[in-house]
Amino acid sequence: MGAAEQVAVRRAETVALAASLSARLAAIIESSAWSSNDDEHDPEGATVAFERAQLAGLLERAEDELRGLDAAADRLAAGTYGRCERCGGPIAEERLAALPAATRCIRCADRR
Ligand SMILES: [Zn+2]
Repeated sequence: MGAAEQVAVRRAETVALAASLSARLAAIIESSAWSSNDDEHDPEGATVAFERAQLAGLLERAEDELRGLDAAADRLAAGTYGRCERCGGPIAEERLAALPAATRCIRCADRR
């Protein structure tokens, strides 16, 4: 699989993931709107709040990844894809296969 395909496939997966996460989040928000406002004394309220926070966190990560993949598509178009933004060296193919949006080689990624 070429780099452009890897980015496109990951992007499609991430778009689908973000859509399902936001649908679940919307369903939770909608169902909690129907229940009592007295969350503190409702044992289910805490569970719902936890699930809601967890979903929101996952959705945020998916959106971050989408931004990263869009940036990767820009780098592909510019011909700079697969080059480490820190040291300018090549990013290993295995790393790009696992993380198509990677902007740093493994050595630079380890060093923060
Ligand atoms: Zn590097």
